[in-house]
Order: sequence, then C-alpha cells, then structure tokens
Amino acid sequence: MAIEQTLSIIKPDGVKKNVIGKIVALFEENNLKITASKMVQLTRAEAEGFYAVHKARPFFGELCDFMCSGPVVLMVLEGEGAIAKNREIMGATNPANAAPGTIRKLFASSIGENTVHGSDGPDTAKTEIAWFFAGNELFSR
Ligand code: ADP
Ligand code: MG
Repeated sequence: MAIEQTLSIIKPDGVKKNVIGKIVALFEENNLKITASKMVQLTRAEAEGFYAVHKARPFFGELCDFMCSGPVVLMVLEGEGAIAKNREIMGATNPANAAPGTIRKLFASSIGENTVHGSDGPDTAKTEIAWFFAGNELFSR
C-alpha cells in the first residue's frame, strides 16, 4: 500500500475535553506520523467553505456553528494507507455506531459533536490539506 497524507481535525469538543494528547497517541500507535499541525479557531466562512459539500444537508448550519465555536487542531497524518487507517481509528460518524476503542466511541457525545474529522478519499485529502496548509507548513518525513 502507498504512503498517503490525510487531513485530521480535532474538533472543538475534543479540544474542550482536553484529549488532544490521547487522540494524537492513537495516531502514533497506529504508525501515522504528524507532518503538519496547528491550533486555530475557524471563521464561519472557513467552516462553510471547508464543509461546502454538505451545504444542502439539514445539519449544515449547526455543523458550521459548532466547528467555529472554539479552537480546533488541524493536522496532516502520513503513513501507509493513511486515509483509510485514520477513518478506522476515528470510528463511525455516529458514536453510537462506532467500534470499541475508536476515537468517536471513546470521546464523542453525539453525531454532530463527534470529536474528529478525517478526509474520506485521496481527492478530498488533497484539497482539504491545501485548504488549511501552505507548502512550507508540511514536513513529510
Ligand atoms: P464524517 O465526518 O464521518 O465523514 P460526514 O462527512 O457524513 O461524516 O458528515 C460531516 C460531519 O457533519 C460529521 O462528522 C458530523 O459532525 C456532522 N453530521 C453528519 N451527520 C449529521 C447529522 N445527522 N446530524 C448532525 N450532524 C451531522
Ligand atoms: Mg466526511
């Protein structure tokens, strides 16, 4: 399998619950390297742009409000099959359906406030990384 990069976001609920380190440890234990990282508070416009693919969904407004409600941690994860591996470590969108040991099972409180974001394929990984990181902020290693 190829080395891939994927975008991870620790959402405002994860930062508030003080579990940044626990989440990062799960990535590292699963052989994903953090090759870019920063904490930011998204503007409403940045959240809307990032989630534009969901703008017709009924939860779009709520999702954008939540995503800019507090600081988030943006990261690029790199490793063998990183995109699918990150999705596996995250667990299902709805924490009620997430497998034991996954981030969403461990920390998420609802389908909306579900602690982490992860790119869902190679094309979205590329555009999502470029949405948040400039070339000189990436440290592929
Ligand atoms: P995922 O984050 O697992 O890729 P989606 O791309 O389907 O899930 O949805 C993006 C985000 O929108 C979810 O992570 C969650 O925060 C929010 N969301 C999805 N479905 C719902 C829903 N039914 N009600 C409220 N928020 C939702
Ligand atoms: Mg998604």
